[in-house]
Amino acid sequence: MLGVVERAEWWDVRRAQNRKPATYTCPLCGGFLPALSEHVLLIPEGDSTRRRHAHARCAMAARKAGRLRTREEWRRSMSPARDAGRAGLLGRLWRRLGGRH
Ligand SMILES: [Zn+2]
Repeated sequence: MLGVVERAEWWDVRRAQNRKPATYTCPLCGGFLPALSEHVLLIPEGDSTRRRHAHARCAMAARKAGRLRTREEWRRSMSPARDAGRAGLLGRLWRRLGGRH
């Protein structure tokens, strides 16, 4: 169920302010998500047309697992200034494949 969060390099995570009595499916756990409950919006690469509603606790867990990078974290990971050995194309590939230092 984590598939959806793999399709973006970075995510904007915002507190949802939905007052519609709609229901959603959380993309992180696949569970039922009533719009009126506490939850967040996941916005892939700032594209709000692709935003998804997710449980706040699922978003927190995904963040901790490093699967939901913020734009700032993504930028830092692309910065060639430090860590010259792994900073180039190979470094990005390495990270994309889930490699760890
Ligand atoms: Zn969830």
